[in-house]
Amino acid sequence: MKLLEEILEHNSNFVRNKEYLKYETTKFPNKKVVVLSCMDTRLLELLPSALNFKHGDMKIVKNAGALVSHPFGSIMRSILVAVYELNADEVMVVGHHDCGMGSINADSMIQKMKDRGIAVEKIEALKYAGVDIKSFLKGFQSVEESVRESVDTINNHPLLPSNLPVHGLVIDPHTGKLDVVINGYESD
Ligand SMILES: [Zn+2]
Repeated sequence: MKLLEEILEHNSNFVRNKEYLKYETTKFPNKKVVVLSCMDTRLLELLPSALNFKHGDMKIVKNAGALVSHPFGSIMRSILVAVYELNADEVMVVGHHDCGMGSINADSMIQKMKDRGIAVEKIEALKYAGVDIKSFLKGFQSVEESVRESVDTINNHPLLPSNLPVHGLVIDPHTGKLDVVINGYESD
């Protein structure tokens, strides 16, 4: 059975058995926080457990690397929506050790695209559309530095109130241990 078929079979049972009842909550986060983290599989359940966040407690925005790579991109828009429309009163950027974005190599990823049939001409043409593919696919050297940069972008965003606490943390993807890079209560 293919994945989608498996999902749909499970889903019809899930709904029929009313398994959703134990997940009932609202769209407003109980702990009034929006978390930006990484899409890493190891964080899926570990991160909320390690922070003692239950279902319904947080808004969570995820991408590869927990990065705010653009002040007017979709990550930043999600944070703005969480703050202005969904009652989030603080922001947490949670990067992690051993992140895939820490070891990403633009050249090797471009090579993999070519191996999968993406034409060299298409890749070359991106520069005429104003896309610098190498910086688009750039990772980071230090997770602490990367968290610091994302917190800085959020903290200095012209559309966010200046008294909004923005914390920066790094989580261990094995133990769940948190290290504080920036305590947003202290950086007013
Ligand atoms: Zn990661």
